[in-house]
Amino acid sequence: MIEPIVRGDKPRVYLIDVTNRDGVQTANIGLSKLQKTMLNHYLDQMGVFQSEFGFPALEHETNYINANLDLQKRGFFKNIRLEGWVRATVEDVYKALKLTKVEHLNISISTSLIMTIGKFGNKINRDDILKMMTEAVDAAREAGVKTIGVNAEDASRTAAEREDQGYDEDYLMKFALAAKKHGADRIRYCDTLGYDHANSIYDSVYMLAKEVQLPIELHCHNDTGYAVANSVEGAMGALDAGVDAYINVTVNGMGERAGNADLVSVILALTKSRGLKDKDVLDPNVDLAMAWKIANYVARSFGVPIPINQVGVGSNAFAHESGIHADGILKDRKNYEIYSPEELGIPNELTLESGRIITTGEYGGLKGLKHVLSKINVDLTPEKERRVLQLVQLGTAHNQKPLLPDELRFIAEYPDEAAKLMTVTP
Ligand SMILES: [Zn+2]
Repeated sequence: MIEPIVRGDKPRVYLIDVTNRDGVQTANIGLSKLQKTMLNHYLDQMGVFQSEFGFPALEHETNYINANLDLQKRGFFKNIRLEGWVRATVEDVYKALKLTKVEHLNISISTSLIMTIGKFGNKINRDDILKMMTEAVDAAREAGVKTIGVNAEDASRTAAEREDQGYDEDYLMKFALAAKKHGADRIRYCDTLGYDHANSIYDSVYMLAKEVQLPIELHCHNDTGYAVANSVEGAMGALDAGVDAYINVTVNGMGERAGNADLVSVILALTKSRGLKDKDVLDPNVDLAMAWKIANYVARSFGVPIPINQVGVGSNAFAHESGIHADGILKDRKNYEIYSPEELGIPNELTLESGRIITTGEYGGLKGLKHVLSKINVDLTPEKERRVLQLVQLGTAHNQKPLLPDELRFIAEYPDEAAKLMTVTP
């Protein structure tokens, strides 16, 4: 089954969130399996097309991945596609399919000479890279994987035989055409080092998409501050060549080194900026009103606060102080705002409980748990209550922080899946 190059009536931009894969690779921070699951849930509610939800060839992800696939069948996730990331080796593909029931894969290998030599030494040349990739795609296709994305890691530094000979579009095209011939549905153009510029990525992606006629994914890092601009311009290159674009984003831009393209910024750039505002290029299922909730959930989960000047969701994003600005905003908010806090789902007032508070946690009991659940309108049947208490205690230990109302509700409604995903098998 090959996906069409355009899903709807015209080429559009779809979002693939990679927080649960690239975001969690970030040095010094991580998410628990329960937090990754809740993030998939919020991304689904936000209308994000796909979540790159983990590493199916990695043993400690097995229960989490299979439990999330079960949750999809049970309707906890409605529309989002759950896809796993593997290296482009037949062994990784087989292992992923042996350990999990994953149905969608992205298969990754580097097309840049600098990484080929840097990672494999002189043992592997460019033809070997093509062979590894096509064999991995064949293995996935033969095993019945429903959609396959092929990732050209470090694509922006795909250089000719010598680095000083510059960017080698011919090799990248050869790579992408080989992937297509073997049944890939999409090509991921990775600006792994944040090396591209808005014009260069537009040109590279336009040429690639024109020639290959497959949807293109944009995976951009922020080492020069260009991640959002490059993602958007790369996507425009794909659209102008007549194919769909899939921008890889992470919540709050979390990701290795300087991070990835930020989810909320990409949505705002595609829908609020001059020239794009009226073009209607973004997948209409995307719901910006989830922005505040998802950004805050991920910030709390990673333990990394949102900067005050963060696009759209920072605490200063709608704060006005200078005399001229304050006067202007009071007369008409459009004087100093191109979007409103309501559009991003930012609540007018934060309701904080005060006075006597009862919480539930790692060492809590049944009475306290039932009190907390009654406040969020969750009733426990007598048969379930001991089991849910045990899982809430476990969940708190697993997250190493108090559980939030949505997490408690999830555990109460899906105790079997919650137990499975919190069980890590080495
Ligand atoms: Zn990356």
